Amino acid sequence: MKLPIFLDMDEVICDLLEKVFAVYNQQHNKNIKITDIKEWSLEPYIGREGVDLFKQPGFFADLKPVKNSIETINLLLKEDREIFIISSPVNEHCVFDKYQWVKKYIPFFPMGNLILVGNKSDLLKKIKSGILFDDCPKYLECFGGISVCMDMPYNQDAKCDFRVSGWDEFKNIVDKQAPIYIEGEGDACG
Ligand SMILES: [Mg+2]
Repeated sequence: MKLPIFLDMDEVICDLLEKVFAVYNQQHNKNIKITDIKEWSLEPYIGREGVDLFKQPGFFADLKPVKNSIETINLLLKEDREIFIISSPVNEHCVFDKYQWVKKYIPFFPMGNLILVGNKSDLLKKIKSGILFDDCPKYLECFGGISVCMDMPYNQDAKCDFRVSGWDEFKNIVDKQAPIYIEGEGDACG
């Protein structure tokens, strides 16, 4: 059995921060860049009004995919990998937007494997096997399997098993993980 893969959405599959900074900078005549962000919380950098942008209906619906994210997910699906997307929406609009985003950009994704959950940490703590690809230090540190960090200026101190700068490197890590065999399964003797 191949290890299941758990994918985060924002800053892993889709680029939330690029849109946040573009909208915020335009509205406030500022020039905040991702390299300025040195901690997980955005509020010290863009204030409450910047963080509240997330709450607008439709804000998450038109985010750009991260480079090679869609292509690699499609490739992994073709390889019969079991993939889950686990994301923590900020409100009900965001639930709808994220669902629509996955349907639109990854049409072959099994939508039953899209998990939109309020308390992502609690869920990840209970998963003891598999590969997590995330950018959030808290989630990477509480996951029970193999943690792969999407390298970002704000997560430099995150404890993780691997740190990658993009999807090509993530795919290499996935390819190198040996399959696990469970007694009694058909492929156990193969
Ligand atoms: Mg994220």
